Amino acid sequence: MNSKIVLPLFLLVLLYAGCSSVSLSRKKASAWENFRYPEINFVNKASGTKGWEIYNRIIPKPEEYINASILEVVKTLYWSEKDSIPGVNKINYELRNVDGISAKGGAPPVINIFYSSRWVEKSEAGGGDDKVLFETRGVLLHELTHGFQLEPQGIGTYADGGEFWIFIEGMADAVRVHNGGFPEGNRKPGGSWKDGYQRTGYFLEWLTTKDPDFLRKFNRSTLEVVPWGFDKAIKHVLGRRHSVDALWNEYQKYLKTASGKNLNSF
Ligand SMILES: [Zn+2]
Repeated sequence: MNSKIVLPLFLLVLLYAGCSSVSLSRKKASAWENFRYPEINFVNKASGTKGWEIYNRIIPKPEEYINASILEVVKTLYWSEKDSIPGVNKINYELRNVDGISAKGGAPPVINIFYSSRWVEKSEAGGGDDKVLFETRGVLLHELTHGFQLEPQGIGTYADGGEFWIFIEGMADAVRVHNGGFPEGNRKPGGSWKDGYQRTGYFLEWLTTKDPDFLRKFNRSTLEVVPWGFDKAIKHVLGRRHSVDALWNEYQKYLKTASGKNLNSF
């Protein structure tokens, strides 16, 4: 080929390669850059306690810390900010000198989360600052999931304690597991997928080995499967040949293998 033609062609290829890599990285970065964070109203109702002193020392900017955790939660539950995400405009986050750990109340657009300063003190006594930070992040991931997760339709309410409740609490702990929010060794064999919390959460996380988008699709299934049901939703996401009971049995067998005993083997 004539060198007069080769050089411009070469430059053209270089230009094209440059453009496509720029647009690729821009596409990746733009997935969440327009996400609208809620207003965080941090209220300290535990001033004067040791728990507040510890919390304030370890997390001096709670608003930023909560927003960073929100991003982890929505990225686990959705593909992009354009998805159907509950419109949480404001979060009242209170540190309180009470027993218990943490809980979420209210419903979008305003949700309320309390966190116990006594729990902070207990965590500090059990493992120092590292433990407080690990525990605070884990608990926050769980409670924030309640603010941003979708809810099953046509199968009663949370208070019924049925599949609605299993989904809500199981998904909250699945998001916590997915983001490394539980100590190693918490995953154990036994129980039932109906137990909720960690027992269900670890199972749902394991189902990402069947489909990497399982948690996002399972969350979205509440919009697509009405009335919702655990088995129906699993069939909707993974295919009709699957059933929740058969997958639970397969998961239990896996937990008894060498790699199943290692939390980091997902
Ligand atoms: Zn919960």
